[in-house]
Order: sequence, then C-alpha cells, then structure tokens
Amino acid sequence: MPSYGKGKPLTDMAQENAYDLVVIGGGPAGYAGAIRAAQLGHKAACIEMERPGGTCLNWGCIPTKALLKSAELFQEMRHAETYGLACENVTVDFAKVMQRSRIVADQMAKGIGFLFKKNKVEHITGKGRVILPGLVEITSGESQGRLLQSKNILLATGCTPKVIPGLTPDGERVLTSFEALKLQKMPGSIIIMGAGAIGVEFAYFLNALGCKVTLVEMLPRILPIEDDDVSASLERAFKKQGITIRTGVKAENVHVERSGVKLELVGADGAREAAQAECLLLAIGVTANTNGLLGSKVTLATDRGFITVDDHYQTSIKGVYGAGDVIGPPWLAHVATYESVQAVNGMFGHGSPQRVKVFPGCTYCQPQVASAGLTERACREKGLKYRIGKFPFTASGKAVASDHTEGFVKFIIAEETDEILGAHIIGSEATELIAECVLAMQMEGTWQDIHAAIHAHPTLSEAVAESAAASHNEAIHI
Ligand code: FAD
Repeated sequence: MPSYGKGKPLTDMAQENAYDLVVIGGGPAGYAGAIRAAQLGHKAACIEMERPGGTCLNWGCIPTKALLKSAELFQEMRHAETYGLACENVTVDFAKVMQRSRIVADQMAKGIGFLFKKNKVEHITGKGRVILPGLVEITSGESQGRLLQSKNILLATGCTPKVIPGLTPDGERVLTSFEALKLQKMPGSIIIMGAGAIGVEFAYFLNALGCKVTLVEMLPRILPIEDDDVSASLERAFKKQGITIRTGVKAENVHVERSGVKLELVGADGAREAAQAECLLLAIGVTANTNGLLGSKVTLATDRGFITVDDHYQTSIKGVYGAGDVIGPPWLAHVATYESVQAVNGMFGHGSPQRVKVFPGCTYCQPQVASAGLTERACREKGLKYRIGKFPFTASGKAVASDHTEGFVKFIIAEETDEILGAHIIGSEATELIAECVLAMQMEGTWQDIHAAIHAHPTLSEAVAESAAASHNEAIHI
C-alpha cells in the first residue's frame, strides 16, 4: 500500500477526505458549482489557490466596474451645467479611485466565503491537481499533500490574460488588465493593444480621467464580435471623447524603454506608423489555466489549450467535468456560472444539462454596448432572410431628459417566423436593457412578444419595444 503525506496509507487518507464533488477553482464557475452541489444535498469542496471569487470578483468584472463608475461620474460632474448645476474644479484622485475598486473587490470576495459557510461547502486554500480520475491532490498551501477523493471532479480553473512572448508585464511599462488594476499613478499616455471588451473598457476609463489613449485593433473594427453598426457607432463616440483609434493594424517591434514604450503599427498594405506612450496595455485575449492541473498519469483532450467537454460538460475522462473560461469562449462570468450549474445538475441527475445558447455580451464603457444572438453580418453569411428594426435613443423621452441620447436599439427579426435572431444595443444602460431581449430569445419569442408587453413610460426600455415594432414599421415615435 503506497503511503502519502503524513505516512497514512493512501486509501485511508483519501477515504477521510471523501466528497461527492471536488471543484478546482473558486471563480464564478467553481464557487457556483460547489454551492449548487451543496444545494442538492451533496458534500462539496472547493479548492482555490488565491482567494475565492476568481478573476471576476478579484481582477475582472467587479473591480473594473467600480473604476468605470468613477469615470462615468467624473464625466457627468464635468458636464453638470447641462443639468443646470454648478460643479466646478472637479479633480481626480487616481490612487483613491483605484483604492475604491480594491475595496469593492475585497467586499465581494469576502461574500463568497460567507456563501461557502452558509452552504457548508468546504473551502480549501491551495492548488489542486488531478492525479487520477477520482483523486485530487493539494499541491500548495496549508493543506499541501492532502488527498481528496470524489466520483465527480469539476475543473473550473479559468484563464489568465495572454501576453506576447518576450514582453513580460512589469506593472509599469507593460501591463495586462491584472497590472492595470493595481496602478497607483495614472499614466500620461497609454497604447491599448486589443479592442475587445476589456481593451475598450480600459480605453474609456483612462481617457475619461485624462490619460491620452491610443486603442489598437488588428481586425477592421473595435469590438469586432459586435454588430457592424454598433462598432461604427462606438468608434464615433470614442473619437468624440478624444480616444485615438487605429484599426486593421498590427503592433510590431515593441521596444520597452525607461521612459516609455515605442512600437510600430503595420497596416494590411504594409504601411508603417510609429507610436509611443508611457505604457502598453495588452488586452489580446486569454489562455487557459491548466498548468500543474493534471498529474503525469492524466491526459485530457483540449482544443487550442482549452479543455474539451461534451454536452454533459464531461471531459475526455469519465467523472471529470469542466466549466467556465477554461473550456473556451465565450469568456464571461455569467456563462461560467451557467455552465457549472448545468454540469452539476447533470452529474447528480437533476435534469438534463443545457449547453449555452442565448447569452448576453456586455461592454461597460459609455455608451454601453450589449447584445445577444446573431449580428446582421452573421445572418447575411448564413443566408437568412431577416428584417431590421432600429430605434435611436434621440427619440426616447427618458434618454433626452437624462441627456444620454447616444446610440440605438437594433433588432434582427426572422422574415418568415418573426423570431428574434439578434438584439444589439448601444447607449446608456444598454447592459441592463439587454435582459429583456435575452428572456424573449430564450423563449423563442417574436418581435410581437416584445412589442405587446407594455413598457413603462418614460423609460429607456421603451426604445426596446419601439425597435421591435420598427421591424414592421409600427414604431410610433420615429
Ligand atoms: P476564474 O474567475 O478565472 O476563476 C478561476 C479560479 O481558479 C481562479 O481564482 C484561480 O486562482 C483558480 N485556480 C486556477 N488554477 C487552480 C488550481 N490548480 N488550483 C486551485 N485554484 C486554481 N466577464 C463578464 O461576464 N463581465 C465582465 O464585465 C467582465 N469583465 C472582465 C474584466 C476583466 C479585466 C477580465 C480580465 C475579465 C472580465 N470578465 C468579465 C471575464 C470573467 O472574469 C471571466 O469570464 C470569469 O471570471 C470566468 O470564471 P471562471 O470561474 O471560469 O474562472
């Protein structure tokens, strides 16, 4: 009988540590999966090597939204005279803005500890590694050497920001979102590489507080996965705000110097343009956290580094499941939570697990961007027959009263069935407004379902109803 750790036989040690579910990773996928198992009456443990909450609560969704709120408020205060108010000499205390973001993250992360206790989920601090199907070893921290046995293992180890080989984030000249969330001093200028949601949110935040921002994107549009109209509208808004935008260019020859970063932007035609700034933020995607996750006897099928799962979220090994960022796109906290809850429901026979179909994608800059379903370009590429309904916020009483008239709601409606194929919103509170569209799409609703529901007046949500109606020329206010 092999012995392990404190000299006890391996099987004895493992039996003392027997669970119905062992989760590795305590982010939105991991903590939700562990809590769901506990809700279903099962004994669950969640192993997290940092503190619970994952990227989302600690270094992603939540701290960035705290920063964006400061930026938004600052902009509102600067334009107070629009509302008949005097608010002079408003200044930014960057260190305090950052400090508030950390306090918010701390508060939320502590909340997960409370939820674990409430649901009797055992939280183990340390790094988890699957050494055999059904057996997990803690390889760092106070519990190092402990073995946990479970028929079900859920891998929810998330992702880390991608870096460019040879360009190590130093927290001063080269940053990823992780280092950017720890800045103590606002840089005078920054080049942001990558105009997906993270790059765009940092561009808005830093520019709003007075940093000179250049946003660089290799693809032809900013927010390239959004509808073309939305990307174009956001680009116009950002340029008006003073952000320099370079799309369709690749950043090359990056030189990190004592005083800043210099690089070249290379267009599709080979044209080169020099660019420089105090620092460079890499917002170019993510890589899966699988380093040290599997023992030498365990191999899992992967696709571009992300763990492959089947319709039951089971990996290529029976009893080992995956959920969240580590199983690939879309890399979103709410999707991560949905996947893990579905995986856990499935593994304990609580209904049949659903894969992600309709989900909202949100970007919290100003104007905000939110969408669900297909873009118009995707509909064209699929050869679908569709109608467009579009309603501008300039025609919304609530938007005018609030002086937030930028943007529109756009629906893409199937010509034959009237079903909603896509919903795209750019404007104030877009990220809240999208919920109604997601619900309708989840229920395979039609434009008439949205239109027939009475929307409160005056609200921005009226623009959603009017946009649905506009698809059949029935909008009243345009
Ligand atoms: P994670 O949250 O990354 O959690 C994985 C956890 O596993 C981590 O805590 C890690 O420490 C731990 N871990 C890894 N390996 C091990 C191991 N071997 N043993 C023990 N623990 C381990 N999404 C949104 O939906 N909305 C947003 O507004 C949003 N904003 C974002 C802003 C930024 C700057 C970033 C970087 C991301 C943002 N995201 C946003 C994405 C979101 O954070 C992720 O989709 C979400 O956190 C994924 O959850 P997860 O549980 O799969 O992984």
